[in-house]
Amino acid sequence: MTDAGGPPQTRADRNAPRLVRVAVPSPLRRAFDYLVPDGQCAPAAGARVRVPFGRGSRVGLVLEHIDDTHVPAARLKAISAVIDSEPIFDAASLALLRWASDYFHHPIGEVVLGALPAGLRAGKPLATHGDPQGVAVWRLTPSGALLESSDLERAPRQLEVWEFLRAHTDGARVEDLATLAGDWRGALASMRKKGWVERGHEQGKAPSPDSPTAHPEPNVEQREAIDTVYAARDRFHGFLLDGVTGSGKTEVYLALIERVIALGRQTLVLIPEIGLTPQIVARLRQRLSAPMAVLHSGLGDGERRRAFAMARDGRASVVVGTRSAVFAPLARPGLFVVDEEHDASFKQQDGFRYSARDLAVVRAHQCGVPVLLGSATPSLESLNNVATGRYTSLKLSQRAAGALAPRIEVVDLRGQPFDDGISQRLVNAVTECLESGDQALLFVNRRGFAPVLMCHACGWQADCRRCDAHMVFHRSSSRSSGRSSDEHSGTLRCHHCASEREPPPACPSCGSDDLRALGLGTERIAEALAERFPDARIERVDRDRVRRKDAMQEVLDGIHSGHTDILVGTQMLAKGHHFPNVTLVCVLDADGGLFGADFRAAERMAQLVTQVAGRAGRGERPGRVLIQTHHPDHPLLTLLIHEGYAGFGMAALSERKLAALPPFSSLALLRAEAPQRDRANDFLCQARDRARALASHAVQVLGPVPAPMERRAGRFRAQLLLQADERGALHALLSPLLAELETLKSARRVRWSLDVDPQEML
Ligand code: ADP
Ligand code: ZN
Ligand code: ZN
Repeated sequence: MTDAGGPPQTRADRNAPRLVRVAVPSPLRRAFDYLVPDGQCAPAAGARVRVPFGRGSRVGLVLEHIDDTHVPAARLKAISAVIDSEPIFDAASLALLRWASDYFHHPIGEVVLGALPAGLRAGKPLATHGDPQGVAVWRLTPSGALLESSDLERAPRQLEVWEFLRAHTDGARVEDLATLAGDWRGALASMRKKGWVERGHEQGKAPSPDSPTAHPEPNVEQREAIDTVYAARDRFHGFLLDGVTGSGKTEVYLALIERVIALGRQTLVLIPEIGLTPQIVARLRQRLSAPMAVLHSGLGDGERRRAFAMARDGRASVVVGTRSAVFAPLARPGLFVVDEEHDASFKQQDGFRYSARDLAVVRAHQCGVPVLLGSATPSLESLNNVATGRYTSLKLSQRAAGALAPRIEVVDLRGQPFDDGISQRLVNAVTECLESGDQALLFVNRRGFAPVLMCHACGWQADCRRCDAHMVFHRSSSRSSGRSSDEHSGTLRCHHCASEREPPPACPSCGSDDLRALGLGTERIAEALAERFPDARIERVDRDRVRRKDAMQEVLDGIHSGHTDILVGTQMLAKGHHFPNVTLVCVLDADGGLFGADFRAAERMAQLVTQVAGRAGRGERPGRVLIQTHHPDHPLLTLLIHEGYAGFGMAALSERKLAALPPFSSLALLRAEAPQRDRANDFLCQARDRARALASHAVQVLGPVPAPMERRAGRFRAQLLLQADERGALHALLSPLLAELETLKSARRVRWSLDVDPQEML
C-alpha cells in the first residue's frame, strides 16, 4: 500500500486490478476511481454502474478505463454492479458531456447523470426493442376502423388520435402518440371504453408513416440555403439562417432533414419551448415518413426513456426537443438544427448553467457535420460569428407564400388620453381589425393586473417582505371572469419568491383607503378590452392562464379555429407560433425594454418587438403593427423601425465593441447568496482576492457588487464579474480558482455558483 503522496499504482503488476473512472452525481468537481472485481468484465465507457459512495450507493457512469489511480489501495472500492452491458452514451456523446462539464465548470457527475431521463438516472434498464413480446402499440379495433371522421366531429382530440391510428395500421407506439398535441391520453382512454382502440404488440415491422403530402417548391433563396448546407454535409460548418418571420426557415429545415434522412443520418432539432413542439412535429410528420423521437420535460419518464433509446439506437431519424435534448445520444448524427437560436431559454439559468445552442455547435464540430442556427432576430453573438467569417450567413429576405411584410407604426402616447394602457388609436385599429373578421394580438410583458399597488395619499407601495421588489396585484386568481364590484379584491403576489398576501383594506402607513393599482398587466388589459369590446371573445395568454397541462393547447385551438377575436398575452406569444388570421399586433408598452439595467436589454427588446410584429399578417392579408411608447424618438426604436432588425444589429454590435462587452469579450459571473448580507460579500471578497492572485493581467476582476435585485426570497445576493478579452485567459483562471473556492470556509456559509457566458446579469 502506498500513501496518497506516493507513486501511483500501475498496471505493471499482471495481477493488478482493473480500474475505471466513474462520473457520480455529487457537488464535487471530479470523477471517482473504482476497481472492477476479479472475474468480472470491465464495463464499457458510457455504461452505467452502481458504486458504493459515502455511506450508501449511487448510479454512476463509466467515463474511461484507466491504468492507475492516486487513490490509496486501502481506500479504493469496487463497483457493486454493472447496469448496462453496452454503453448508454456513445463515445461522441460522452465527449460532449465532458467538454460541457469542463467549459461550464460544473461537476461531471451532475452533468452526465443529469443528461439522462429520471428512470435511467435511478438505474432502470434502457428500453430496447429486445422485448420478446414486441413493443406495445395502440391500434384501432375493427369497430374503430369503421368510424368516419364525421362521427368524431364533436371530439376533436379523439378525431386526431383516430386519424393518427388510421395512418398507423400496424399500431402506434406510445412515443409516437406522444408527438400529438394535447390530452391524447384522455382521448385514448375514452376511445378504449367505447371499444374503438386496443392495445397490442408490434409485429416487428417498421411503423407505417403518415402519407407525406405535397410541399411548396423552395424559392431561390431557400434553394440556395438548402444546397449550401447540403454541400457541407460531410464536414463541420456553422450556418446562420437569417430569415424574417414567415420567410420559410422551417421549410429549409424540412428539406434538409429529408436529404439527411436519405443519407441514412439523424437530425437533432432544438426548439426553445415545449409549447412549440406540436407545431414543428406536425410539420415534420406531414412531410417525412420517418420515425421521430420527441424529448422534453413535459413527457412522462417512460416516454422519455423510449425516445432516448430511439435516438440512441438510431431508430429515430429526427429527434426534436428542448434544451436538454442536446445531450441525447445519436447513433448516426448528420445535422444539428437550432430554431429561434437567439432565444434566452437555450441557456439554463440554474444548476448546470449550459447553453444548448452553443453546445449544439460544439457537438456538430465533434461529429464533423453541419449545424444550422435559424432566427428572424439572430443573437449578436451569431451575427458577430458571421462578421468574423466563422459562420456562413444564409438570408431569406422575403416572406414566403407571398405574404407582405407588416406595416409598423409608432403611437406617441405623450399627452394622449390613455385609459388602462389603451390609446384611442389602438381602439380604432382593433375595431377595424375585428370588423374585417380578423384577429388582434396585444402584447404586454407582465402578467397579473398591475405591477404596483400604491397609496395615492402618501405614496406607500406594497412591497414583498422577502425581496427587493413590488408585489404584483392579481385580480382574477381563481375566478374565471366576471368583474368584481370590489375594486381591490384580489391577491398580491411576488413574482420572484411566490409570496402571496391579501391587499390591505387601507394604507398601512397613513390609513387612507385610496389605494391604486398602477401600471399594466395582462389581466388589466383583458378587462379593459372586455369593456370596450363587449362582443369580442378575448383570450388571455400568460403563465397563470396556461399553468394547467393542456391549457396552452386549448388557447392555440381557440385561435386556430377562429373562436378567439383578441389575444392579450406576454412574450409567450412572441415565440414562433403561426397565427394566420392575426393581422393586427400591438406592443402596449415598449418603454420597459428601452431602459433596462442589463446590457442585453436593448437586444432583447429589439428581438421581442420584431418577433411579436412577425406574428402579424402571416396569412393572405397584410399585417399592421402598433407600438405604443412615451419615447417615439428613442434612437434604438427609430433604428429598429426604419432599418429593421439587421440595422439595429449592426449598430448594437459596434456599441458592444466600444464597450468591450460580449461577443467582444468573455464573461463569467460568480454569484453568492446568504441570509446575511456580510456572508455573501465576505465570500466574494475572498474569491476576488484569490482571483486577482491567480489571474493574468488579461482578466479583469470586477466587484463584488450587490445583485440588481439584492434581496430575493429572504437572501442577500451579490456577484463578482470576471471579464477577459480572450476566452482562453478566462478559462485558464476558472479551473484553479474553483478548486480554491471549494476549500474556503466562507464558501460553506453561502450558496454560490459560477455562470459562464451569463445571459442574465441579475
Ligand atoms: P418561418 O419558419 O421562417 O417562420 P415557415 O417555413 O413556417 O417560415 O413558412 C411560412 C409559411 O410560408 C408556411 O405556411 C409555409 O408553408 C409557407 N412557405 C414556405 N416556403 C414556401 C415556398 N417556397 N412557397 C410557398 N409557400 C412557402
Ligand atoms: Zn398611505
Ligand atoms: Zn418576494
